[in-house]
Amino acid sequence: MHIEPIARAVEAFATLPGIGPKTAQRLTFHLLRQPPETVRSLAQALQHMQEAVHFCSVCGNVTDVEPCSICRSDQRDRTTICVVEDPLAVITLERTRIYKGLYHVLHGALDPLHGITVEDLKIEELVRRVQGSGAAGDVPIQEVILATNPNVEGDTTAGYLERRLAPLGARITRLARGLPVGGDLEYADEVTLARAIEGRRAAS
Ligand code: ZN
Repeated sequence: MHIEPIARAVEAFATLPGIGPKTAQRLTFHLLRQPPETVRSLAQALQHMQEAVHFCSVCGNVTDVEPCSICRSDQRDRTTICVVEDPLAVITLERTRIYKGLYHVLHGALDPLHGITVEDLKIEELVRRVQGSGAAGDVPIQEVILATNPNVEGDTTAGYLERRLAPLGARITRLARGLPVGGDLEYADEVTLARAIEGRRAAS
């Protein structure tokens, strides 16, 4: 039995992370049983998200305004930048309510084996932010917290950034150990993550 529109929907779901062929099929058949307006509003929500959301030109986080609400906030500590691999990590860190500084989203981690190099990440943008523009009103960055994921690629990235940023004068710190090794930051629970921020230590 091959019904092309169904096969197409299953295939589309199966491209998503964590969705295998069986789950893709289950989601498709679930939607087939829903009223048309449910499916339409799902499709519209996805489309609207794609159109309305972009990456902040300053920090690289997802936003629907430019710059993002964190970059434009006067409630944040503008002398500290926390460097993360992806926007999901920002959401996780914000949930701890401990961190009050700014962010920088790299959009990945160094992974030479899979061809991910410095040019593929938002590293030059970070270096420029830490250097500062030198313009009046430009707040110098005093601390950069390297909060890459606790795995090999994350450690490689943090090590590289440490060397790149060290000559610029800001204090470079890393999250305290104790985060679940091998996973992504977003899987850490809030208490563990809050402790890792508070217990951050000088890099190297
Ligand atoms: Zn921003």
